[in-house]
Amino acid sequence: MDHPMDECPALRSSTEVHWTVFTPSISIMNRYQTIVRTSPACLVDNKSSSSSPLFMKDWTSMTWVAGHMNSEGNEAVDKLAKEAAEFGSSEQQQLPTFLRRQLPNGLSGYLQQIAQLSKEGNEKWWKRSKRYKRTKTIDPDLSAPNYIKVTNGLNRRQTSVLTQMRTGHDTLNKHLHRIKRADSPGCPYCLNTSEDTTHVLLRCWKYAALRHQLRLTLKRKAYSLQHLLSNRSAIRHTLNFLNKTGRLRATYRDISAELIDDDKC
Ligand SMILES: [Zn+2]
Repeated sequence: MDHPMDECPALRSSTEVHWTVFTPSISIMNRYQTIVRTSPACLVDNKSSSSSPLFMKDWTSMTWVAGHMNSEGNEAVDKLAKEAAEFGSSEQQQLPTFLRRQLPNGLSGYLQQIAQLSKEGNEKWWKRSKRYKRTKTIDPDLSAPNYIKVTNGLNRRQTSVLTQMRTGHDTLNKHLHRIKRADSPGCPYCLNTSEDTTHVLLRCWKYAALRHQLRLTLKRKAYSLQHLLSNRSAIRHTLNFLNKTGRLRATYRDISAELIDDDKC
């Protein structure tokens, strides 16, 4: 060997002893085999890179055991770990200095923390938004995940129309006038009446016949803006109603939706 064994006290003291390490872990067994094959000395001391693999194999062996069966050391460690889990941490003065500061979180802890902060930040941002007040009146219980669920199966144009109707940022005159894209906020068919979602879906005389058909289908629920824009089955009837009015055709062309069974909602 390039370096005598005397340079490594750990090796020198163990030359006449055969060490057997018991482990219940297959991964540790595999790791041990890799270490002995590639860098045996790191089992004892990372700085003692001079030891021979043959030497290490001579004085150590690794044996697999089922769990911690009949291993006094492991069972003692398990007992202490269980006690520590049950009784919590020792007084800070009794701890070693390096354990007195707060331990760093694990990766999963950080990810959970980031997800929680992100969720809280999104909720605060949304509640400060000007659109929150209007959407809240339509359906205060329809969170983003639920909205994704109820619009599942709709195409992009249909979902876009529905979102605009819910937020008031639609292509009807009231909003277009607010953003200076229309001369007047009024309904083209009614005097002195702003054209918005509520007017088109519930009031405008121009669509009375179509609305009558909708009410025959949805009964009293057809009078509820919340139901028309939040219920998974009803929003398809709403889209078909809007499609038949032709009011949004210049922007969205065909937005008719396939109906689904109300029982599946
Ligand atoms: Zn009208």
